[in-house]
Amino acid sequence: QAKKIKHKEGVYYTIEMQDKMAWRLGIIRQLRHDFSRNKLEVWYQPQLALDDLSLIGCEALLRWPAENGTYISPAEFVPLAEDAGLIVDIGQWVLEQACQQQKRLEKMGEEIGIAVNVSVPQFKVKGYAQNVKATLEKYGVKPKNIELEVTESVVMDELDTVVNTLRELKELGIEVAIDDFGTGFSSLSYIQSLPLDRLKIDRAFIKDLPDKDTGAIASLVISLGAKLGLKTIAEGVETQQQAQFLKDLGCDEVQGFMYAKPMPEHELVEFINKRNNKI
Ligand code: C2E
Ligand code: MG
Ligand code: MG
Ligand code: MG
Repeated sequence: QAKKIKHKEGVYYTIEMQDKMAWRLGIIRQLRHDFSRNKLEVWYQPQLALDDLSLIGCEALLRWPAENGTYISPAEFVPLAEDAGLIVDIGQWVLEQACQQQKRLEKMGEEIGIAVNVSVPQFKVKGYAQNVKATLEKYGVKPKNIELEVTESVVMDELDTVVNTLRELKELGIEVAIDDFGTGFSSLSYIQSLPLDRLKIDRAFIKDLPDKDTGAIASLVISLGAKLGLKTIAEGVETQQQAQFLKDLGCDEVQGFMYAKPMPEHELVEFINKRNNKI
């Protein structure tokens, strides 16, 4: 069935590849449609300080509702949105949602930061730092209350431009975290010279803790962070054992299902109210 077809430029595609391309185009079209009709959602996952479990922030995470209460994972559609150039607009929308959410929490007496994921194409837009600044001003959000999460792929892309943008963000007081740290093989000498605030240890190095090998990597990232004066946050913490292990290593912060899953805004408000009433 997987017959080869000759493309006009002499490239060979199989039926399966064509199906895959058609499928991707279909998804992108649907995503564009749903985005334009304001059907996307932003959920929030709490981030806590490991020493006293105080709430230090939330990560904003995209959700794309599908049929009957299910959601398409951002891990699936964000890469497609990046390829289609759609992530720039969607990312801007997420930032605006995060700003509004930050203000609502602040009004509840909960002045915490919101972390927003940023893709390479967004970061490469000319004047990116200034755009972020303008958005924060539009909603009256203090720069220290928005953190941008970029992956190592951002850092490795056009280093000079990235360094300049990072410096600009730093000057504006906007914090930057390296997301999924340890999975992107970025050179350690780059990391050392960049103006960063936080390292997020990827779940891959958390999920098997206290396994010796992943434990060694988690430990390495935490001490690297400490030496470079960066905060470390572990993502995907699911068990008390993992939490204790990270605490013993001196990890600063945690985010994971053990504490709270990503949730829509009304649940986040409930979550915060419940915590505050317990004290
Ligand atoms: P990420 O930025 O590394 O986000 C953390 C992911 O880990 C989230 O997946 C979160 O739900 C998941 N997670 C957190 N704690 C646990 C845990 O204890 N166990 C397990 N199994 N998973 C946990 P999610 O929400 O599916 O997002 C996947 C990825 O999609 C994100 O990874 C990020 O790379 C991307 N993404 C999400 N929202 C956005 C966005 O607004 N913009 C961009 N550019 N990318 C986004
Ligand atoms: Mg993230
Ligand atoms: Mg991550
Ligand atoms: Mg990750």
